[in-house]
Amino acid sequence: MKTGDDYLASIKSLDLEAHIMGEKTGHLSEHGLVRPSQQAVALTYDGAHDRDTAELFCVESNLCRETVNRFTHLHQSTDDLVNKVKMQRYCGIKTACCFQRCVGLDAANAIFSTTFECDGKHGTPYHQRFRDYWTWVQQEDLVVDGAMTDPKGDRGKRPKDQADPDLYLRVKERRSGGVVINGAKLHQTGMLNSHEILVMPTMAMRPGEEDWAICCAVPTNSEGIHYIYGRQASDTRKLEEFGLDMGNPVFGGQEVMTVFDNVFVPEERIFMDGEIDFSGILVERFASYHRQSYGGCKVGVGDALIGATALIASMNGVGGASHIRDKIVEMIHLNETIYSCGIACSATGEQTPAGNYQVNLLLANVCKLNVTRFPYELARLATDVAGGLLGTMPSAADLSDQVAGPYIRKYLAASPEGDVVDRIKVLRLIENLVAGAGSVGYLIESMHGAGPPMAQRIMIGRQADLEGKITQVKGLLDIE
Ligand SMILES: Cc1cc2nc3c(=O)[nH]c(=O)nc-3n(C[C@H](O)[C@H](O)[C@H](O)COP(=O)(O)OP(=O)(O)OC[C@H]3O[C@@H](n4cnc5c(N)ncnc54)[C@H](O)[C@@H]3O)c2cc1C
Ligand code: SF4
Repeated sequence: MKTGDDYLASIKSLDLEAHIMGEKTGHLSEHGLVRPSQQAVALTYDGAHDRDTAELFCVESNLCRETVNRFTHLHQSTDDLVNKVKMQRYCGIKTACCFQRCVGLDAANAIFSTTFECDGKHGTPYHQRFRDYWTWVQQEDLVVDGAMTDPKGDRGKRPKDQADPDLYLRVKERRSGGVVINGAKLHQTGMLNSHEILVMPTMAMRPGEEDWAICCAVPTNSEGIHYIYGRQASDTRKLEEFGLDMGNPVFGGQEVMTVFDNVFVPEERIFMDGEIDFSGILVERFASYHRQSYGGCKVGVGDALIGATALIASMNGVGGASHIRDKIVEMIHLNETIYSCGIACSATGEQTPAGNYQVNLLLANVCKLNVTRFPYELARLATDVAGGLLGTMPSAADLSDQVAGPYIRKYLAASPEGDVVDRIKVLRLIENLVAGAGSVGYLIESMHGAGPPMAQRIMIGRQADLEGKITQVKGLLDIE
């Protein structure tokens, strides 16, 4: 298994380039906007080598029987599902951001079981192909981007009815030995920090939409792929000389618009091609795994926000006030409610016909629906406790100014034990999470990542066995 440093060297060796703020940029490892996101991924590697966490991060692979990093593991039990959530919570509090490596893990588990069932029905060769591919991923200890979300154009129209057929990624051409895909995937988490991409359809396809039902793997440095870096609120603070205003001084997330301009995919990397009846199953399984994931990662980031809020309360001299303590208890209650859902959907997961374990679909969707709300409430409470300075604090550059600096130190002093710069650090971290670069991962991603709230409501409605409940009530009341 790679260490964080091995990972950083391996990703650098791919020589990826991206359009970042108007410039085509190479040497991404040295770029101020990219570097923090790579550090966050590196932590997922170091966890496997740290004496305190190795047991959680290391697991025996069912494919190659070697010890692999859990971030590449096909879950073999409900314990594996629970441990995944625990590992994500650990990474969340350590980084206070999205550490990007879970999307590929969730895609792999969904593709593993879907290809098995697809082969059983259609006689396709996908499952063994995927086993071979994923064995290699595990042995090389790679980061894999999970690419599902298409641009989707006019939401009221089907893929085949769009003005431009590429608004949903599709097979454009069939050649001997493979296919050519064309289109784009938006919002790709950690794309430029990944070695490989798993492309999946964005929704259930219908007859006539076979070309859009494509699932395949391509290396991130394939010919024809173009990357356009996503902006985050206050992102250029990462480029400033004074690191204090970044809020999160070490780590950060990354989302990238990814264009596939006639990219060739060889046959051995194709895991679905036109089997529309399995496209919806794949989407549903992937989404549910990722909705489980939020029951770990967002809780870890929530832990960081709660810690920062308690710290600023005590620095402000109000840590003992009963309404402040109550607000922090409320934050903990909301955060642990999300965690309870993450653990519950894992502990009640079930084995798939392919042998790996699937989360409880109903509870995973309940988990994510809570995630679309509770982090926003945590952010509101943190803003309340932190005070207005959260939005009005002078810049770090002014601290070293001969005139402004002493005034800032004099007038931003609070509790006598607290250092002014430490107080600024804590406020900046809270700002980062509720309104800055970190809010992309903590708030906007909580709403839309793994699907918007309506997607969870639809799944909850479908999974809840309402008819069964009605039957029970009829039985109780002796109604025919
Ligand atoms: C930070 C972040 C990271 C992400 N990471 C990844 C990633 O790594 N990989 C990946 O594949 N995706 C990723 N996503 C994408 C995410 O899954 C999508 O944002 C999500 O599915 C919503 O799609 P959308 O953004 O196109 O919004 P839309 O689909 O446009 O949704 C906007 C609103 O319109 C509603 N709506 C949409 N279509 C219809 C319709 N037909 N009828 C009625 N209402 C409709 C929705 O319910 C919602 O309320 C990420 C997103 C974010 C924000
Ligand atoms: S949002 Fe959470 S689950 Fe998804 S990749 Fe980031 S850290 Fe992992």
